[in-house]
Amino acid sequence: MTTQIFLRRGKEESLLRRHPWIFSGAIASVKSDTAEIAEGDVVDVYTQAGDFIARGHYQIGSIAVRVLTFDREEIDQAWWNRRIAIACDVRRTLGLSTAADTDCYRLVHGEGDSLPGLVIDIYGSVAVIQCHSVGMYRSRMAIAEALREAFGDRLTAIYDKSSQTVPYKAGLNAVDGYLFGHSDSKSHIVTENGLKFKVNWEEGQKTGFFLDQRENRALLRRYAAGRTVLNTFCYTGGFSVGAMAGGALEVCSVDSSERAVQLADENMRLNFGDQVRHEAVAADAVEYLKHIGDRYDLIILDPPAFAKHHKVLGNALQGYKRINARALSSIKSGGILFTFSCSQAVSKELFRTTVFSAAAIAGRNVRILHQLTQPADHPINIYHPEGEYLKGLVLYVE
Ligand code: SAH
Repeated sequence: MTTQIFLRRGKEESLLRRHPWIFSGAIASVKSDTAEIAEGDVVDVYTQAGDFIARGHYQIGSIAVRVLTFDREEIDQAWWNRRIAIACDVRRTLGLSTAADTDCYRLVHGEGDSLPGLVIDIYGSVAVIQCHSVGMYRSRMAIAEALREAFGDRLTAIYDKSSQTVPYKAGLNAVDGYLFGHSDSKSHIVTENGLKFKVNWEEGQKTGFFLDQRENRALLRRYAAGRTVLNTFCYTGGFSVGAMAGGALEVCSVDSSERAVQLADENMRLNFGDQVRHEAVAADAVEYLKHIGDRYDLIILDPPAFAKHHKVLGNALQGYKRINARALSSIKSGGILFTFSCSQAVSKELFRTTVFSAAAIAGRNVRILHQLTQPADHPINIYHPEGEYLKGLVLYVE
């Protein structure tokens, strides 16, 4: 018998609206044949009245169950194959899996693809899996099998990079490694909108590359001609390469990680040769922004999530306000600011209000030209609005 979880009265409401999380406080009791329920087990969830409502992965923590299905279907290999096939179909529909000038995209975006706790990024013929839940981690071989079923020969390697993302407390001792095949991540080059990037999934941050900025980098390209560009929090230099491709005069890339600015520089050379007008600076961007004078007329602010959860929201908003006020004060007249927040806890409205406060501090006339978000391969499950995490504004500063 599958372990049964019974909810407190009324706690099924969000599930009836197909929200995929069950919080630990909603659970009244657990009925199991086996001695004890284990993290990562597939469990069935029932209302207090005993009606079946969902099936999902159990985990200790504030989110106790991540829903896999609202039907009584078996979570077997065929189920994983179906879910991955649907994710593939979405990317095919988007034209991403067959694009001539882009060979990297997100194949599975957690709740957005009805696979809570799972991220899969595709880099050419390599898939990189990141499991954020114990259930997904325990299912990784089935997931790898489903990927091989869907891609066939087009996949030469599957790398599991879950050691930093599975809950530490679960004591899984996860070790990163290949679940299938092998590929040299040190020399791997992907193409995004015709531009080349080195992606090292074994050693890089997250799965190796921030795919969620693809469309925003393409937009930046349209604004870059003749501009002097500052790309802060540059990581592997996605925006720097985009700016240069758009005809920037020169680009300065700043990141606190020495390795990141090296990579940004390598990517600039890879696309534009050794004579490229690029300065790579390893520094704290918040400090760096204090001393930029009025050199730049295109600035990018793409910091890491300042607010990892709601408790630190106040500090995070101060952080966003500070960097935006600095950039808006310094930018040349007629300058363009691309500013982002990837904090899930900061809503679109809150981000906009924060940038509005920053503009008021800078005392400049500011127009909003574009309101940006994540691309369609990072879809938002309509029942899980929390999945909308990336927000951006493009501003014209008089
Ligand atoms: N814009 C990038 C992604 C940015 S990720 C892209 O398009 O790929 C955020 C980056 O901020 C990381 O590379 C991290 O090393 C860097 N970072 C974090 N704190 C920083 C700080 N205080 N100053 C400068 N960089 C920082």
